[in-house]
Amino acid sequence: MAWRTRFAPSPTGYLHLGHVVNAIHVWGIARAFGGDVLLRIEDHDRTRCREEYEDALLDDLDWLGFVPDVGRTDSFRRARVAPLETLRRREPRSQRQSDNDARYTAALAILTERDLTYVCTCTRRDIAQHAPHAPGAEPRYPGTCREARHAETESLARRVRTGEGVVTFDDRRRGLLQQSPVEQCGDVLVRDRHGQWTYQFAVVVDDMEHDIDVVIRGEDLLASTGRQLQLAALLGRERRLAWWHHPLLVHPDGRKLSKANRDTSIRDRRAAGAHAAALLGEAAFLAGLLPAARDLTIDELPSLFRQSTEFRDCPAGAFQQL
Ligand code: GLU
Repeated sequence: MAWRTRFAPSPTGYLHLGHVVNAIHVWGIARAFGGDVLLRIEDHDRTRCREEYEDALLDDLDWLGFVPDVGRTDSFRRARVAPLETLRRREPRSQRQSDNDARYTAALAILTERDLTYVCTCTRRDIAQHAPHAPGAEPRYPGTCREARHAETESLARRVRTGEGVVTFDDRRRGLLQQSPVEQCGDVLVRDRHGQWTYQFAVVVDDMEHDIDVVIRGEDLLASTGRQLQLAALLGRERRLAWWHHPLLVHPDGRKLSKANRDTSIRDRRAAGAHAAALLGEAAFLAGLLPAARDLTIDELPSLFRQSTEFRDCPAGAFQQL
């Protein structure tokens, strides 16, 4: 049976070259080594996500030629106009995080029943004052509310006693890695004081719900892997999970590209007359997957990964074994 990976963008802006690099890895590796791709819209943060961005994202994926095996772009569009019908089929609304409140609530209840969660009344400022950290570094929750036993009504915010210890995991590209979530971030926030589910929690619950075997994502999310494995273990995940963190897109002049760089927005590039194959080739080049920018078609993606030394070093059967 095919193993499964996912493409999980957040519609907080237009699709940009960084997303394309991730999509090239996700589809390329899946197609090269016998995996399926599931599309998930990670719009858990209702303050930053917009429907307009989701529409644009679906449209840009179609235009680029990335076709998911589970959660076709069209069914996401239909889900919005015919919610009853799609609710009955459970797909793909269950792949849009803003539709999945009941799923996250149930997962939180599992942890709460085991006394693994607590109400947290700390503000960001409280945390910064208690646990000063270098600019840009991640604040570590000092555990202020851990034993406070605040009443349920005091705040919607919930944290999980994520536990001590070092987490070891096998990144198929980088080898065995170790992280210590208790030192990195302390107890993980699963719901904030406005009642919004956090990325860390939603992604773990969904990766379980969607039977994901392999997570292929940028190295900017590498620091989250240990805590996500801890959360998954607390929720009773049994299925093995493999990781592939790929390097981020860097401009030839060394600049890191971000959503703020207008030159990387697929929307703008399309409007300026760019072709899909040229954009794919440019993204692959900027990600170090091609020696020079050239037109690249979707059908060429698997060969790109089979040929690259980095991927040749990865045990070829590693993905098939899953
Ligand atoms: N939604 C996340 C993002 O757009 C990706 C989450 C993940 O791959 O774990 O950055």
